[in-house]
Amino acid sequence: AMYHAKRLRSGTHYRLFTPDMRWRKRVSRALRNDIIDNNLTVHYQPIVDLKTGKIYAIEALLRWYSKKYGYINPLEAFQIADQYGLSEMLNHWVIYTACKAYRGWHQDSESNICLSINISPVMYRQNQLANLLSDVFHHTNFQPENLVLEITENTAMQDLEATPGIMQTLKALGVQIALDDFGTGLSSLSHLRELPIDKLKLDRSFVKEIDQDEKDAYFVECINALATKFDMQLVAEGIETKAMLDKIRDIGCAYGQGYLFDKAVTAQEMQNLISRQVMGENIYQAHLEKNH
Ligand code: C2E
Ligand code: MG
Ligand code: MG
Ligand code: MG
Repeated sequence: AMYHAKRLRSGTHYRLFTPDMRWRKRVSRALRNDIIDNNLTVHYQPIVDLKTGKIYAIEALLRWYSKKYGYINPLEAFQIADQYGLSEMLNHWVIYTACKAYRGWHQDSESNICLSINISPVMYRQNQLANLLSDVFHHTNFQPENLVLEITENTAMQDLEATPGIMQTLKALGVQIALDDFGTGLSSLSHLRELPIDKLKLDRSFVKEIDQDEKDAYFVECINALATKFDMQLVAEGIETKAMLDKIRDIGCAYGQGYLFDKAVTAQEMQNLISRQVMGENIYQAHLEKNH
């Protein structure tokens, strides 16, 4: 209340700020209840091997429709969770739900599709994360090597004192680490050299105009060379058109994700895609052909 009062008196943010704060607080209560009641879902988006057209990995993405507040976008849901003490609850819910779904998918034992899960900034900095993960692995009988933790570049680099220790602890569990939204954040080359990072997820903003903007294409070429030299896998986010895909492949980027292939789908729909792949189909191969 003190905080609100101060903002009120200091003026400029009056209209925008205060109602928004109240709204977020209310949404956080609805969120807590919906976590407890299991009233959220996770959808799954394929990450595609751009050489074969096969599903290479699967990213878990929260979907929350609140009866009271409607559809809340997942980034905002996690910001609210981080702000109002629900970070551990919500991250745990997604990790547990996604690991369980993954264990339910009938996969080819040789294919080893990875599951990719985003970790919110507050959760990333809590010592609890490693315990939480071990706990979920134990309860869902999940192999840690099949999990990729997506941490945004900014979250990882904002706390450079803590990040090496956090990442070592996570790596000791056997999981992989990806830097998400890469290219927009704070990394310097020396950080990439020193930290145990397995994958870079190239931010969508570099892919959006890659077929029209030479500078974007040069940038992605450099990032791709960097990833190759440092033995990291590069995933291009936000591939929406055939032209973007062709350019990304010309550059040599090995993995991609985007609406051109599929948006995030339900666990059941993902099961269907995986079944087709297990039967030998290269699901997205048609997109890779020259004049598709
Ligand atoms: P992100 O991790 O970078 O996820 C990629 C976002 O891009 C997803 O949005 C996905 O649906 C969207 N996307 C995928 N392909 C395309 C495309 O071709 N074009 C466009 N325009 N968008 C595409 P979404 O699901 O709305 O999630 C937004 C962000 O919210 C995520 O960004 C992530 O930061 C956060 N988030 C979502 N689910 C979770 C979660 O379970 N845990 C945590 N901690 N964060 C989550
Ligand atoms: Mg992500
Ligand atoms: Mg991203
Ligand atoms: Mg993003």
